[in-house]
Amino acid sequence: MTRFTKITASIGPSCENIDTLTRMIKAGVSVCRLNFSHDTGDVQGAKIDMIRSVAKNVGVPVAIMIDIQGPKHRIGDFASDKHYPLKVGQKFTLDSDETPGDETRVQLPDTDVMHSLNVGDRILLNDGKIELRVDAVFDDAVETTVMHGDEIWSRRGFNLPDTDVDTDILTDKDRKDLEYAITKNPDFIAVSFVQRAEDISIVRDFITERTSHPIKIIAKIERPNAVKRIIDIANAADGIMIARGDLAVELPFEQVPAVSRYILRECRKLNRPAIVATQMLSSMVHSDFPTRAEISDVANAAYLRADSTMTSEETTIGDDPVNVIEKMDKILTYSDNDSIEHPYDWCNIENTPENDWSRSVSSMAFLNKASAIVVFARDTDAAVQISCRRPDMPIIAVCSDEVIANQLCLSRGVFPIYDRYLFGQRDAFGAAALFGVRTGKLVIVDEDKISLRTLD
Ligand code: PGA
Repeated sequence: MTRFTKITASIGPSCENIDTLTRMIKAGVSVCRLNFSHDTGDVQGAKIDMIRSVAKNVGVPVAIMIDIQGPKHRIGDFASDKHYPLKVGQKFTLDSDETPGDETRVQLPDTDVMHSLNVGDRILLNDGKIELRVDAVFDDAVETTVMHGDEIWSRRGFNLPDTDVDTDILTDKDRKDLEYAITKNPDFIAVSFVQRAEDISIVRDFITERTSHPIKIIAKIERPNAVKRIIDIANAADGIMIARGDLAVELPFEQVPAVSRYILRECRKLNRPAIVATQMLSSMVHSDFPTRAEISDVANAAYLRADSTMTSEETTIGDDPVNVIEKMDKILTYSDNDSIEHPYDWCNIENTPENDWSRSVSSMAFLNKASAIVVFARDTDAAVQISCRRPDMPIIAVCSDEVIANQLCLSRGVFPIYDRYLFGQRDAFGAAALFGVRTGKLVIVDEDKISLRTLD
């Protein structure tokens, strides 16, 4: 059985060695995500080199995705390591005073944030366990009332679900990280806390001013205002990550499945790959086996025809990252091949030349019961567009450029083969044979020519 949904694995201490990475890639990882919120610079560079060399040894294309931290907001320091209880109904002030905080106040280091807040906005600390409501905004202080209480301590992150924050998408740290990251020619840069399409243009300009390497940009959707602007953001970016961790703090949690489904559908229409991320198999940080709910969550991502699922802590700090990938592979493979649901979107998309063309390829493959679609991929566009019509046969993308092969690793049902000889000879039968398809019909796509050939 062929698995169509790709696996993006977050890489961390549990799997940063040649043996584990080799086994994870053999078990089905197509994209390796490196989170620059943690290590940066040469430490991450060494991991990138290791992943590239493992992929080469295993002999499969693997994409590298660098995830930059973005403008994650944090409060300042308290007097000591002490935790301070905040009680419902009490007042609490955030100000620009660097003096260590106490149970009545703490510093809010970012003045852009302070000036973006409005009366009535919520400030959520500790993953939403503490809720502050803004009562008054002054030049150098914000007065709030505690709506939900919990303990607070130094440098806690916070979310602002109601506020359009007027802040740069790239912090000084991000600029430094990006400067370094692009020297390593990553395939994807994932941008955190995107709020608008212009954020993507800023990152793209930053990258293109410094390198001609064609890096694709993934917008992480973790704020309600980004959900509202998803069409513009997806159009500006090359792909989307549904970052359910922060999204479930900023949105009413019960809305996250509906929003995820909406984003997946819009991304298909716009020909943008989309990743479902966070807590997919979290219990496997320590357990050998996922919970029933996690099994269903992963299966649902396949039923909703996501491009990729993603692992987080379960592979970065988990006891057995290889087992995580094996379990995810098993669930996705079964669900992808369960024939009860095939939500074709051929009729549900705008009639643009790209969509008409990719719809013709998919319907031709479907009506002829083709075994595979073979695309000679000069860039990623054709294969991504066909993938977004979600045909139920593999799309074998023969690439003459290794970067294109790596970047197609994220797209649902696309199986990139990097082989200059096959590409040069336009050898669709050779590509099909290499993929294991030896009989049946092939739909062959070479530039704008589409042909149907029988393989026996
Ligand atoms: P993070 O993003 O791992 O950078 O926090 C994922 C999420 O918020 O879901």
